[in-house]
Amino acid sequence: MIAATQSNHPLAGAQENRTKESFLNEACNRIRNAGMRVTKPRVALVETLLKQNGPVSIERIHQEVGVDSCDLVTIYRCLAAFEELGMVRRSYLHNGTCLYEQTFDTARHYHIVCKTCGKTEKVDYVLAGDAEQKLKDRGFEQVSHVLEFFGVCPECQLASKSLTRGTSVSVPTSISAPQA
Ligand SMILES: [Zn+2]
Repeated sequence: MIAATQSNHPLAGAQENRTKESFLNEACNRIRNAGMRVTKPRVALVETLLKQNGPVSIERIHQEVGVDSCDLVTIYRCLAAFEELGMVRRSYLHNGTCLYEQTFDTARHYHIVCKTCGKTEKVDYVLAGDAEQKLKDRGFEQVSHVLEFFGVCPECQLASKSLTRGTSVSVPTSISAPQA
């Protein structure tokens, strides 16, 4: 077993300048500290998660890790363990599909998902952060929640409007009588 002898540099907390490699190191440390082994599939999974630009499905993650290098059950188990360690968070599409996203370089947030094209955008984490704290104040432990927003994005609205506009005739609204 290789002991991690890296010292904690006082400037290491500068979140903005951190690289994927430092996230990977942190992930390995968290896995070790939880008493788990740092295995090849686990490292490959962390690397794959760090490459994504938003939440992705478990099937997509499995494909990118490599379907030959580990099975889907392993991915499920790893993601469940990573979630316990706070390294991934779950979100859902409106059809119930579960998506995963790493938590290292993104502040906690929600998503608005377009019901037409499936595009996701971030929504600030303001509403339920408060509610969670209030529940903790009421004595609850291990409080968690799932919250997703669904809608139709401006682009999809425009696209459907231009479709219906093709069949309608514009009617002038001016009723001023001509001056004699
Ligand atoms: Zn859309």
